[in-house]
Amino acid sequence: MLILGIETSCDETGVALLDDEQGLLAHALFSQVEVHADYGGVVPELASRDHVRKLLPLCDQVLADAGKARTDIEGIAYTAGPGLVGALMVGGSVAHALGYALDIPVLGVHHMEGHLLAPMLEDNPPAFPFVALLVSGGHTQLVRVDGIGEYEMLGESVDDAAGEAFDKAAKMLGLDYPGGPRVAALAEKGREGRYRFPRPMTDRPGLDFSFSGLKTFTLNTVNAAKDAGEFDEQVKADIALAFEAAVVDTLTIKCRRALEQTGCKRLVIAGGVSANKRLRAGLEKMTAKLGGSVFYARPEFCTDNGAMIAYAGAQRLRKGQKDGERIVSVPRWPMDTLPSVNEPRAN
Ligand code: ATP
Ligand code: MG
Ligand code: FE
Repeated sequence: MLILGIETSCDETGVALLDDEQGLLAHALFSQVEVHADYGGVVPELASRDHVRKLLPLCDQVLADAGKARTDIEGIAYTAGPGLVGALMVGGSVAHALGYALDIPVLGVHHMEGHLLAPMLEDNPPAFPFVALLVSGGHTQLVRVDGIGEYEMLGESVDDAAGEAFDKAAKMLGLDYPGGPRVAALAEKGREGRYRFPRPMTDRPGLDFSFSGLKTFTLNTVNAAKDAGEFDEQVKADIALAFEAAVVDTLTIKCRRALEQTGCKRLVIAGGVSANKRLRAGLEKMTAKLGGSVFYARPEFCTDNGAMIAYAGAQRLRKGQKDGERIVSVPRWPMDTLPSVNEPRAN
């Protein structure tokens, strides 16, 4: 089954063509980072308009790259939520219009299920069951995964997401958006032990996270360095390293707890922050000690992309799940309310 995947939940337009037997045939991404750069954050209306401009050209591009015609497409998956409603509507409208014209099934996919399943696009994909750590710009969640659509929420952030914390720390260090990769690059020049940041909520039981305190700690550290006239490139790098080490340690401690609690040996990490090298290394070490292993996607499939939506949609479309005639856009949508891939669904 040839599936077109469409991602427009936030500030990247992602499109992919996936054959459910041959795998990924082509994918393309347009990032709107420059569109929003002057505003210090994503401007929803500008995001929607830019998706309108870029989506159909990207669809044509992936078809050309794969040597396929529009009429070869057998199913369409689009991100139905969570995300910015106007941005979601663009992907949903194009998906439903194309699906109607081609008379093929269309399915609205959960964006975080897309992230969660992205590691399945790699060689040596994880088998079920596993524990997943979803760490992105808007989410920090630990999930027990028994199958597609069989999700039990084990813990989540009570305030900021890990990616959001990276982005805010970056801003305080004078770095541009998206801050995660920039903080990580700066941290490579940092000196170990110069600063020590707290590991929030690791001293009590449970699998929830909190990152807003780290944000305040970063701000206080930056201000103290400024007041002391020490806020130079080396000190910025030292702060970046201390911040990154604190986030990675905190995530690692909670992942170990989740693996011990569930008895799972496999850990999957997904979402933009799962591209972080220090996090990957920390989790490799921790899972190896437990006799387990960690799985993740190639860096370009950690952040938003069309391939993960095509993959998640393909699993459900081939079981007959599809939308009714209505475009589905769900700005807030808990992932554990999704039906199992094995349940019949029409909405
Ligand atoms: P959500 O998926 O929750 O709706 P989102 O789509 O904005 O949010 P993603 O695209 O999955 O999030 O990830 C973007 C986030 O990942 C940003 O916060 C970015 O700073 C962070 N990020 C990307 N690469 C890295 C890295 N190497 N280290 C740390 N953080 C990173
Ligand atoms: Mg993004
Ligand atoms: Fe995302």
